[in-house]
Amino acid sequence: MNQRQLFQQHIAQTSPAPIGLEIVKAAGIYQYDIQGKAYMDLISGFSVANIGHSHPNVVAAVQQQAAAYMHLIVYGEFIESPQVAYAKLLADYLPATLNCVYFTNSGAEATEGAMKLAKRVTGRSKIISFNKSYHGSTQGALSVMGDEYWRNAFRPLLPDIYHYDYNSPDAIDAIDSQTACVILETVQAESGITKPSTAWLQSIRTACNNHCALLILDEIQAGFGRTGTLWAFEQYQIVPDILLLGKALGGGMPLGAFIASHALMSTLTHHPVLGHISTFGGHPVSCAAGKAAFEVLLQENLLATIAEKEKLLQQHLVHPAILSVQTAGIWASVRFSNFEQNQQIIHRCIEKGLITDWFLFAPECLRIGPPLITTNQQLIHACDIILQAIDEVALS
Ligand code: PLP
Repeated sequence: MNQRQLFQQHIAQTSPAPIGLEIVKAAGIYQYDIQGKAYMDLISGFSVANIGHSHPNVVAAVQQQAAAYMHLIVYGEFIESPQVAYAKLLADYLPATLNCVYFTNSGAEATEGAMKLAKRVTGRSKIISFNKSYHGSTQGALSVMGDEYWRNAFRPLLPDIYHYDYNSPDAIDAIDSQTACVILETVQAESGITKPSTAWLQSIRTACNNHCALLILDEIQAGFGRTGTLWAFEQYQIVPDILLLGKALGGGMPLGAFIASHALMSTLTHHPVLGHISTFGGHPVSCAAGKAAFEVLLQENLLATIAEKEKLLQQHLVHPAILSVQTAGIWASVRFSNFEQNQQIIHRCIEKGLITDWFLFAPECLRIGPPLITTNQQLIHACDIILQAIDEVALS
């Protein structure tokens, strides 16, 4: 069997059409296949490689930590300095009420932990979430995910979950004294990048305050500068009770987190004790890598470059076949008339050495979410490739 056949035979597939590139090296904004062909990564491995792939500081941090120690004991028993140092750094850059970090293995586990924390703190079970939201693929996270097509085969899921349209006033009215929490993405990713209106998000915050319900903001994709501020919620002048991070959090290593105040988080220590347990959560190598990546983001002042890059995307993504472009910082969704057309354009882009994809609940939209280190010139080049791909698909 060749490598592709082995991949198809032994790697569990859930995608009916995996992209199937065989990459042997990744550095900066490029991935290189087995023939040495370079591909510009226009999606950062799905919002993970915010400072690019294999940054030397991250590689050094991984090597150093792996040589010192890897797994020691289950989460939270020993003082592991990579966890402590990274949690402290995150707390330094977050509002004072978000000062206690539970590191998880993944974004989905962060969602699970946050939902459990909201239930534990409030003693309630009602959860409000949103159509076209994505919070992970485990059963709790799937219960709050906003599309029945993906949920249905796995029912029964969690009870007492109510979905509303993002930006809909009905959601505000639904927050009441039975509500444990509202969970939403500060900028909704998989609907094709939807921003909340400031007034709506602030009203959600106020309604949560009025009814002592917790507000969980998921910034697993939107966090770490992608939308132009370090945290997307800064743009709406609100602070969540629980913040979810993942993806770029680990600098390329697996890591998620739910972050709350020390007072809220401490409820997980009693009735029952060990309110959330994880063997590998906050793996020291992941924490060392994540901290190194976050430091690069800060030191290189990448946030200051994002507004201009957003403008470049808006200016260059113009073509009669493009129905609309939604942007949030260095993040864009380019809408075509249907999935088939989008897929053909995506395939052309990949052939031309540009990795892109579609959005889960907006399959007619092409995904742009490059590393924040992508230069203006590289970004314009990527837009040119997309425009060429559109023209070629139109002619074929
Ligand atoms: N939340 C959001 C907004 C996401 O985009 C994702 C993953 O795509 C998740 C949660 C789940 O993260 P993970 O795949 O690490 O479980």
